[in-house]
Amino acid sequence: MNKQSPSLLIRNPAAVMSGRAEPAARLGKVDLRIEGGRIESIAPHLAPRPGERVIDASDCVVYPGWVNTHHHLFQNLLKAVPSGINADLQEWLAAVPYPRLARFTPELARTAARLGLAELLLSGVTTCADHHYLYHANGSTETGDLLFEEAESFGMRFVLCRGGALQAAGDHPGFSKTALQPETLDQMLADIERLKSRYHDGSAASMRRVVVAPTTPTFSLPPGMLPEVARAARRMGLRLHTHLSETKRYVDFCRERYGQLPVEFVADHEWLGPDVWFAHLVHLEPVEIAMLADTGTGCAHCPVSNARLGSGIARAPQMAAAGVPVSLAVDGVASNESGSMTNEAHFAWLVHRAAQGASATTIEEIVHWGSAGGARVLGLDAVATLAPGQAADLVLYDVNAPRFEGFHDLAVAPVAAGEPVRVRYSIVNGRVVVENGEIPGLDLEALRRDAARGVRELIDD
Ligand SMILES: [Zn+2]
Repeated sequence: MNKQSPSLLIRNPAAVMSGRAEPAARLGKVDLRIEGGRIESIAPHLAPRPGERVIDASDCVVYPGWVNTHHHLFQNLLKAVPSGINADLQEWLAAVPYPRLARFTPELARTAARLGLAELLLSGVTTCADHHYLYHANGSTETGDLLFEEAESFGMRFVLCRGGALQAAGDHPGFSKTALQPETLDQMLADIERLKSRYHDGSAASMRRVVVAPTTPTFSLPPGMLPEVARAARRMGLRLHTHLSETKRYVDFCRERYGQLPVEFVADHEWLGPDVWFAHLVHLEPVEIAMLADTGTGCAHCPVSNARLGSGIARAPQMAAAGVPVSLAVDGVASNESGSMTNEAHFAWLVHRAAQGASATTIEEIVHWGSAGGARVLGLDAVATLAPGQAADLVLYDVNAPRFEGFHDLAVAPVAAGEPVRVRYSIVNGRVVVENGEIPGLDLEALRRDAARGVRELIDD
């Protein structure tokens, strides 16, 4: 924990969401005291202590910090690439990220990470899990390290899902467009061991985690390697993550090639359990939802990216109702164009109601998925719920703006109204990391210049 953090009192917020599921989703009119990186107390009318920093939150709504469980930070220099803007997943993979993998120098990866982390932080994210797959047989592994460095400089919790491909390049719809050779299993596992010893902390309020995350079964590794990878992760005490069932085409491929549904297939290869979560899960049969629920396997629900690529709408409300741990994620911004969790939450609230009717989900449920739900799939049990003893990760949304006048219930405003809504303060592990709407120490002009240079280097030939 951050023992240097001074005691902090957040007084008189207009409303507070807890991150818990109903009926405990709201905390009413309370103040919050933060001490030593933890929430010390939550109660009405807490009196300031001598020397304590006090934040007047009377025109703010307090939310738990969002936990983004699936991202690809390097894609922050690949937004709205013309050759992929109207493409489906398979065409987009082959047109946008994969042809550029070898062009991502550590410098470009750092600029992209900085852009992405800044956007996440200013939308209320305090924990990010990045699925990072800029790896190949002859490439540098330092991009993984620099992600930890950048997240630390922003003061964010960071989970590196160490991705990559492990089989003949010809089988991956994206990788096959490159001249790159995938890593061997030994290469990948050696780097994961190295990352683990340097960064990983398995505690419940950890600031840094490493996860084993080959990019996509079975395109990125042969089926026979899946159990080997799962066993290696479990031996190391690391969680497992990957993409699954993002498109109908993927489900059809699994059925034709293996005679199984994707969740049945991964079940036979030791890839289900409370230490596993999958991104997308757009196309699932009821039997697969039951298998995920029975094993405690989680979902990173990415509704904007799934809509942008025309992949479909994951049945997240049905998964949650069945007992599947559901979390929210923005996915890479090359297939979203926004890395904002506020935007993701707003869209998630709307899209299930458009598809299934007004009773499909509630704002309280969306906030739960995006906070405590995310912490659950990442195994960060002391994070993302506003309660005494929990890590102090929370955001103060500024509702002092004309568009927030007239609300009868301000607690729901950031999700119901969506953006623009400004994060006035963000606090991670008791430390203020967004101060009056700005990230202290971030040179925005330099970042803009670096980003413009990066786009020029990565532009379509
Ligand atoms: Zn993804």
